[in-house]
Amino acid sequence: MDPIYTAGPWITEREKEAVQDAMDNWYGEDKYYYCETFESEFAEWHNRTYGLMTPNCTSAIHLLLRAIGIEPGDEVIVPECTWIGSTAGISYLGGTPVFCDVDSETWCLDPGSVEGAVSEDTRAIIAVDLHGNMPEMTALQEIADTRDIYLLEDSAQALGSEYEGQKAGSFGTASFFSFHRTKTLTTGEGGMLLLDDDELFERCKTLRNHGRREGGEMYVNYDIGYKYLPFNVQAAIGYAQFQRVDELIEKKREILQGYREGLEDVWGIQLNTEPPGGRNGAWITGLVFDQGYGLTKAEAIDRLADHGVPVRPFFYPLSSLPAYPTDVEEFEQQNPVAYDISGRGIDLPGAFTLTDDQINHVCESVRNVLRNANS
Ligand SMILES: *Cc1c(COP(=O)(O)O)cnc(C)c1O
Repeated sequence: MDPIYTAGPWITEREKEAVQDAMDNWYGEDKYYYCETFESEFAEWHNRTYGLMTPNCTSAIHLLLRAIGIEPGDEVIVPECTWIGSTAGISYLGGTPVFCDVDSETWCLDPGSVEGAVSEDTRAIIAVDLHGNMPEMTALQEIADTRDIYLLEDSAQALGSEYEGQKAGSFGTASFFSFHRTKTLTTGEGGMLLLDDDELFERCKTLRNHGRREGGEMYVNYDIGYKYLPFNVQAAIGYAQFQRVDELIEKKREILQGYREGLEDVWGIQLNTEPPGGRNGAWITGLVFDQGYGLTKAEAIDRLADHGVPVRPFFYPLSSLPAYPTDVEEFEQQNPVAYDISGRGIDLPGAFTLTDDQINHVCESVRNVLRNANS
């Protein structure tokens, strides 16, 4: 059997042709053709007015947080379990991420925990669609509206997910996507900010380009912004991938379905959930095994590696990481679900190259490891 990969893209002739075309049009009228077309088509697909491509998702979040004026003293609510790219931008601006607990079913931000964490200094909530699962968006939007704070959606893992018939990436004031090489739709490195508000869009666009204004005089900067522009060759890959978006999502869902069927009768495991009235884009399949197995995630990862199955750990609670020096015991008490789930969760291989045989092998290996867990 070929090696099994945790992640990896699906690249076809289409992407190669688009890149060739972008290389042939390095200068001239079409030099930003793929950037602009990808931005507008991606936004439209998500029912958003504007799209801004960025070097990655982390910078898209940073850009938006800067544009809404996050500064020292401001608090932004985030879930414990996510990648640090969700929260780094808050810290870049001197703001404070406030870690909240997650729901045991969705693994996403728990509205009850958010309610208890809102303070006078809270400016925004960043909801994260973990593993393509989605939080209770309606409840989160209500909290945001009542408290007059921003709801932002980190949909980096949720291309193709839907909540009550509405696409992930269309909730709140703005949403963020990642096109990192491990993501469903990839440009190697890349990201996208989606939003609707005209003024906020103009502000983000100016900040993305060193504070230059569209159509403004040459070399005149109106702000100290960032250099977060995309380039056409990178965008060409994204554009071509996006022409195949349904196929990409379908394949990811097939992988999730393969794991569901292969592990159907296994006791005490929990996989990705389908959001209410919607569907899961299935970027990656998470597996949380019952406490009854008496197994840690590190042990599970080691034992699966012995079977030639590379798995990743479920995201650690951010408050437990050295990057955020906190009183870990205090956070563990405050956000018990996040600490519990993360301690017994793994991410199964999700590369586009996975074959049925490989999926079967992963399922057999998981069965084997769980069967022998207590022995
Ligand atoms: C991948 C990811 C990011 C960061 O994306 P980059 O493009 O690597 O900056 C942010 N948030 C979540 C939830 C992610 O999965």
